[in-house]
Amino acid sequence: MDYNTLAELLFPQVTDTPEDLEARYPQRELPQGAVVTRMAPSPTGFVHLGNLVQGLTSERMAHQSGGVLFLRVEDTDAKREVPGAVQVLIETLKHYGIHFDEGASMEGDVGAYGPYYQRQRAAIYHVYAKELVKKGCAYPCFCTEEELTEMRQQQEAQKVNFGYYGPWATWRDRSLEDIQSALAAGKPWVLRFRSAGSIEHKFKYTDLVKGDLTITENDIDQVLLKSDGIPTYHFAHAVDDHLMRTTHVVRGDEWLPSLPFHIQLFQALGFKLPKYVHIGPLMKMDGTSKRKLSKRKDPELALTYYKAEGFPVKAVYEYVMTLLNSNYEDWRRANPTADAGEFKFSPKKLNPAGALFDYAKLCDVSKNVISTMSAQEVYDLVAEYAREFDPDFAQALEADPAYAVSIFAIGRGGKKPRKDLATWKEAKPYMGFFYDRFFDWNAPFPEAFAPETVKAALQGFLKTYDPADDATVWFDKVKALAESLGFTANMKLYKQDPTAWPGSVADISTFLRIALTGKTNSPDLYTVMQILGTERSAARIQAAIDRL
Ligand code: GLU
Repeated sequence: MDYNTLAELLFPQVTDTPEDLEARYPQRELPQGAVVTRMAPSPTGFVHLGNLVQGLTSERMAHQSGGVLFLRVEDTDAKREVPGAVQVLIETLKHYGIHFDEGASMEGDVGAYGPYYQRQRAAIYHVYAKELVKKGCAYPCFCTEEELTEMRQQQEAQKVNFGYYGPWATWRDRSLEDIQSALAAGKPWVLRFRSAGSIEHKFKYTDLVKGDLTITENDIDQVLLKSDGIPTYHFAHAVDDHLMRTTHVVRGDEWLPSLPFHIQLFQALGFKLPKYVHIGPLMKMDGTSKRKLSKRKDPELALTYYKAEGFPVKAVYEYVMTLLNSNYEDWRRANPTADAGEFKFSPKKLNPAGALFDYAKLCDVSKNVISTMSAQEVYDLVAEYAREFDPDFAQALEADPAYAVSIFAIGRGGKKPRKDLATWKEAKPYMGFFYDRFFDWNAPFPEAFAPETVKAALQGFLKTYDPADDATVWFDKVKALAESLGFTANMKLYKQDPTAWPGSVADISTFLRIALTGKTNSPDLYTVMQILGTERSAARIQAAIDRL
C-alpha cells in the first residue's frame, strides 16, 4: 500500500505539515519546573463540585509553580452543547477563585496557542491525521453502524473481547482500490488508528495520583476522526495538549482506561508524553457504604447548590482544599489567617480512590471560616445572598446597615469567636428576631409554668428595668426577681434538688428570652437588649404580658 497516495486521497486540502505547526506553537518560555495545565470541559452547562476539585488541582499546580493554566473548550459533541455553558463555567470557576491565564474567556480567546475551541481546530487535527496515514498508523474505515452492531453480536456469541481489532478490523488492510471505490461511492468514513499493541504486553507507568500502574497495551483500532472530520476526545487530547505545550494533564479517572491508547497515540505522533494526574471521583457515605456522588441523586454535586444554600465562597474553597490535601487542615490550624495560596499543594496527596464528601464537615469548615470574618464582611455577604434569595430580608438589612452590623458583631472577634453560622441561609432564622417583621410575637412559653407566673416575672422585670444598667447589675436584678418570686438564684443548689423550688433564675431568663427573641436559644440576652434598644425591648415584654 502506498500510504502517501492514501494520505493525499483522504486529505487533499491539507498542505500544512507538523513542522509548520511546531513553528506556529513554539515551546513556552517558562522557568524550570513550571506546570502548564488546563481544564478541558465539555460545554454541557452543568458545573459540579468535581469541576472545582479538578480546577483547583490544576490551578494550584500551575500557579504555585509559576506556570500557566488555560481553558480549552471541548465542543466536539455538538449534540450535547448548551448555549451559554462556557460563560457559566468561566463565571462559576472565577467565583471560586480559579482564574485562567489563557484560553477561552468572556472576551473571546486569549493567548498564542489557540484557537481554544476544538471545533475551530479541525484543520490542525487534519495535519496530524494526514501524517499518521502517511506513516501507516491510520486508515479509513467505512463500516456502517449495522456492520459494527453485527460485529459486536458475533463477538458476544464467540465470547471474545469486544472492539475493532485484529481479525475484526475489516478495513485495516484493505487495498487502495477498495478504499477508492468506497470514497467514490460517497460512503461515510471514520479515520482509525492502526494499533500495533497487544494485550499480551504490559508495561509500568506512574500516575501522579494513582502511583505505579501496570498497563496493558491497547490493541483496538480506535477512532481518531469521526465521519464529520471532527476528532474524538483521544485524538484532540493528544494534538491539543502537545501543541498547547501542556506538561500535566489533570483529569477525572474515568479516563484511566483510555490511558494505554493515549500513551500509544503520543508515541505514534512523536509527541512527548505529558504527566498525568488522574483524580478519583467524589464519594459519599450512603448508609454504611460509599458511593460516587451522583448528578441525579445528590443536589450537593452542583455548584449552584452551594450558592443557594449560602455557603461563603471562601468556605467551599477551604473545604475543597481539605478534601484534596489531607495536611491542609493542620496547615490551616497553624496559619489561621494566611492566604490559602501559601499552602504547598501536592497532587501526590490526593486520595487515589477519590475524596469522601462530608456535608457535616463542610458545615464545620464553613462555621470556622465565618467566625473569622468581621461583622461588616458578614453583613456584606449576607446582604448579597439575601438580595438574590430573600429580597424581603435584604430590604430589612439594608434599611439600617449599622443596626445589622451591630447584630453580626455579637460574639465576634476575641480568642473564641461564636461559631453559630454555617451558611448565609441560616442568618435569618438566627437573627431575624431583631426585626419586628420577622419576630415571632406568639412564641409559646414553657407549659410547666402557669401563665400568671410568667406574667408576674415579666412585669417584675419591667418595673426595675433600667437601660443604663451594666451587665452585672442587669443580671443581679434578674436574680433578685427570681428570688422575689420564690425561685432560686443558686443554680448549684437547684441542680441538687430541683423539686425544692418552683424554678430557678434560668427559667426567668427563659421567659425573658422568649418574650424578647421568640426563641429559647439566642445570643446573650443583655447584649440582645442593648441592640434592640429600650423601647423595642420594653414593647416586646409588654406585648408578651398582654397576651398571657
Ligand atoms: N472533557 C473532558 C472531561 O471533562 C476533558 C478531560 C481532560 O481534561 O482531558 O472529562
